Amino acid sequence: MKVTLPDGSPRDLPEGATAADLATAIGRGLAKAAVAATVNGKQADLGAPLHDGDTVAILTANTDEGRYVLRHSTAHVLAQAVCDLFPGAKYAIGPPIEDGFYYDFELPGGAHFSDDDLERIEARMRAIVGENQPFIREELSRDEGLERFAEQPFKVEIIQAVDPEEGAEGSAVSVYRNDGWADLCRGPHVPSTSRLGSFKLMKVAGAYWRGDEHRPMLQRIYGTAWESDKALADHLHRLEEAERRDHRKLGLELDLFHFPPEIGGGLPVFHPKGGLIRKLLEDYSREEHEAAGYDFVWTPHLTKSTLFEISGHLGWYADSMYPPMEMEGATYYPKPMNCPMHILIYQSQSRSYRELPMRLFEFGTVYRFERSGVLHGLTRVRGITQDDAHIFCAPDQLAGELTSLLQFVLKVLRTFGLTDFEAELATRPEKFVGEPAEWDAATAALREALEAAALEYKVAEGEGAFYAPKIDVHVRDAIGRRWQISTLQVDFQLPNRFGLEFVGADNARHRPFMIHRALFGSVERFFGILLEHYAGALPAWLSPVQARVLPVRADHELYATSIVGRLRATGLRADMVEADEPLGARIRKAKLEKVPYVLVVGDDDVEAGTLGVNPRGGEIERGVGVGAFVDRLREEVESRS
Ligand SMILES: [Zn+2]
Ligand SMILES: [Zn+2]
Repeated sequence: MKVTLPDGSPRDLPEGATAADLATAIGRGLAKAAVAATVNGKQADLGAPLHDGDTVAILTANTDEGRYVLRHSTAHVLAQAVCDLFPGAKYAIGPPIEDGFYYDFELPGGAHFSDDDLERIEARMRAIVGENQPFIREELSRDEGLERFAEQPFKVEIIQAVDPEEGAEGSAVSVYRNDGWADLCRGPHVPSTSRLGSFKLMKVAGAYWRGDEHRPMLQRIYGTAWESDKALADHLHRLEEAERRDHRKLGLELDLFHFPPEIGGGLPVFHPKGGLIRKLLEDYSREEHEAAGYDFVWTPHLTKSTLFEISGHLGWYADSMYPPMEMEGATYYPKPMNCPMHILIYQSQSRSYRELPMRLFEFGTVYRFERSGVLHGLTRVRGITQDDAHIFCAPDQLAGELTSLLQFVLKVLRTFGLTDFEAELATRPEKFVGEPAEWDAATAALREALEAAALEYKVAEGEGAFYAPKIDVHVRDAIGRRWQISTLQVDFQLPNRFGLEFVGADNARHRPFMIHRALFGSVERFFGILLEHYAGALPAWLSPVQARVLPVRADHELYATSIVGRLRATGLRADMVEADEPLGARIRKAKLEKVPYVLVVGDDDVEAGTLGVNPRGGEIERGVGVGAFVDRLREEVESRS
């Protein structure tokens, strides 16, 4: 028989050959790295027989999909180990997740796992891996499935509710068995447990069955699994780094912001230094928007329900909105979006093609309901300040506008040392509003923008919102974590719902295209991401104190004060700490505050008009002329390097 490889090349195989045979035929290296296969676009076990005409790709362990298979298989082994060690344990679901996996359990008598239990479970898992147990797929009828899992109420519920994701198709269920233990599962899995091993159990947490607070609280064990011990070690190191960089911790240490319980979760206050950084971010953003031809607008935080009835948000977005307030016979909401308000500004008068593209920009604070359980420092808050722009343009301007817009976005992000981009183009889903031809035109324009920016991108087929195709820009930070930051969306709903128009050169009325764009996404979240990216050591242009002058002794203070004066006179942010404490202690404190430049002045400096430069993370220089240092720092700040 003949199968086709992903690159389109054909491959002859004997009848009855499996994906594993194909991998071996291609090469030993591939066979070793293989964990599963994709056959005609569907994932399958390596042991699944192939058929003439199949298109087959081998999934290797070092890819996202391959790691999912490893993690999912390791989750099975986790549940198997728990069942071995805790007779009577009920197991619920255990999916792979980003960087790992989890499995939810209910222990007899409502018992909880302890940290010691995790060690015991991990040891049992290693024993199962050592036993090289094959993962065997079995297809059962619904009734056989119900019988097999009679003692497992969560599995019974899944079979009864029919969940193809979990292997319960309705009339048939699929099961993966290793040794005597089996799980309801769609697969695929690695061929045998010996293929696993680079894993670690991380923690236990509570989780409601089906995420429903009215259902039983289960015990969730989280773990991580990788293709090699090296990849696992790298991941654990990244976690340590991430903890060291945690913006919530840095926010307290650097006195930037906090979350007062009196105000409530997800609602931060920014302290003077945090407020200053925020202002610097915003000032820079405003400057760039001004240069790029944006108009600045401002809109209120509350609105009558009427606006969100017209926009349709009350129909499909109500769950993310805060409850209404009744005032003087009308219903008001805190706004979850700025868009409809910008539309009203567009609509405040009749628009001519000569005014387009019209680019409206605002730092608009919106309020979105987030469950308290998912709030996370500044990266998940309830009051979100979006750097929000809406661009109204004529259809023939769309492609050009998107192209320059995307380049604008990347330029601004690069200023923050974020240079490793990945983009995702999300296209028309099955249910959509608008005309297919318009969707095609907009999607082509988005694609053109991506190609003009030479940006690497993936196409998320059918994953656009029902009203808009979009580009999501992701960045990798200094420790390789991926953050979704900017979004560009072409909206097919709001222009119609609001009946937007412009008068064309032909004197006829036309409907403009509307682009939604958030660049930082939210100022709060971007602030948190930046703090972690820089590990709190912000570049000089964003640092609340750019230079700290330290006199060696009290009789150098007058000279130190004069240096502070010179720095401040040129607009730099400098301070001095008097010689009440030993110099070493003051230097350490400045380093903890992540001040970019510590300037030490002593006898020689007073005499020669110089200073000693102790830069953050750099070499100490002595006898630097004051004027030369001021120029150097100004240059660094002005260039935002
Ligand atoms: Zn499974
Ligand atoms: Zn919008």
